[in-house]
Amino acid sequence: MTTDNAGPSSTSIILAARPHGEPTPDDFRTETHDLPSLGDDQVLLRTIYLSLDPYMRGRMSAAESYADSWQVGDALQGGTVSEVVESTSDRFAPGDVVLGFTTWSTHAIAPARGLRKLDPTAAPPSTALGVLGMPGFTAYAGLTVIGQPKPGETVVVAAASGPVGSMVGQLARQAGARAVGIAGGSDKCDWVRDAGFDAAVDHRSPTFVDDLAAATPDGIDVYFENVGGAVWDAVLPRLNLYARVPVCGLIAHYNDTGAPDEPDRAPALMRHVLNKSLTIRGFIQNEFVADHYKTFQQTVAPLVTDGTISYLEHVVDGLDHAVEGFIGMLRGDSFGKTVVQVGELR
Ligand code: NDP
Repeated sequence: MTTDNAGPSSTSIILAARPHGEPTPDDFRTETHDLPSLGDDQVLLRTIYLSLDPYMRGRMSAAESYADSWQVGDALQGGTVSEVVESTSDRFAPGDVVLGFTTWSTHAIAPARGLRKLDPTAAPPSTALGVLGMPGFTAYAGLTVIGQPKPGETVVVAAASGPVGSMVGQLARQAGARAVGIAGGSDKCDWVRDAGFDAAVDHRSPTFVDDLAAATPDGIDVYFENVGGAVWDAVLPRLNLYARVPVCGLIAHYNDTGAPDEPDRAPALMRHVLNKSLTIRGFIQNEFVADHYKTFQQTVAPLVTDGTISYLEHVVDGLDHAVEGFIGMLRGDSFGKTVVQVGELR
């Protein structure tokens, strides 16, 4: 069945050029276009929240990565929470609030398969993009499957006030480990301590290396790698025998334009791996969804709802500000999970 009337127009953010280094507003443009009528088993969505995530920087690049590159001229894609406006699916009705993967747009037409209905009375719908969504699950899966913290061990994570890092530290505490968060600036470090981490260290401080040593007197048993760069350099010598390093992200390098002009440090790294019997394991959260997503929802959602697990959201006001919100998130300007409020939650 198809509907008779064409849908409304939609405004989208388009990749205008591949960023070289840090993205600039000139790498993007805005377009408005009419949407076609719905086909079978489709829904017309009005975007409420758009998730801004660090991995999107990789998709703007032509370099080989775990996710396909976007093409210049494409509308940028992302996780969204939307309201169903019109539907040819018997699973969704107008007014439903759904989680989907659409575009940086005010409206989108999407196949009904792949959408999940949300209950706005159970948790704020924006949490489906953060603490109870992909980033929260990433933390849960990487920590429990690879990190495997034990009571009394020390777990360190950077970007610790963000959606992945804040969950890692709080779950480490739940497992009886000592949690040390690394974050940029005193406000973020204060929040990390308030969220229950045992210590917080500011990676922007000139005394960062010494501060990390003071916060990890017994060394580091699990380092959940979110950033790379200078933080990794400070962490590596502090890793204990049999330490585990789930490699989740390397945001310090996402704007790199080529290999660094410096001596090859791989042999020194491999010496640490050998001498300390380190386990360094990269992962993309998708690989754990089938086996672990249900348990994540069952065990973590109640801890979020009852306030045991704290989270922060950084809400960017309007699609017009999405690009600057994205650039700022990569720099560390955002404080908590970055979402764009594209439309009202009614
Ligand atoms: P955040 O919302 O926390 O944003 C990124 C944060 O990284 C910034 O706020 C900033 O925090 C920090 N940062 C940026 N540059 C640097 C730097 N040079 N050194 C140290 N810290 C820096 O991000 P997420 O929680 O969404 O994601 C965290 C990591 O997890 C990212 O690397 C992301 O790509 C990765 N990820 C991986 C997934 C997977 O499946 N493997 C899935 C989801 C995310 P601050 O101001 O505190 O320094």
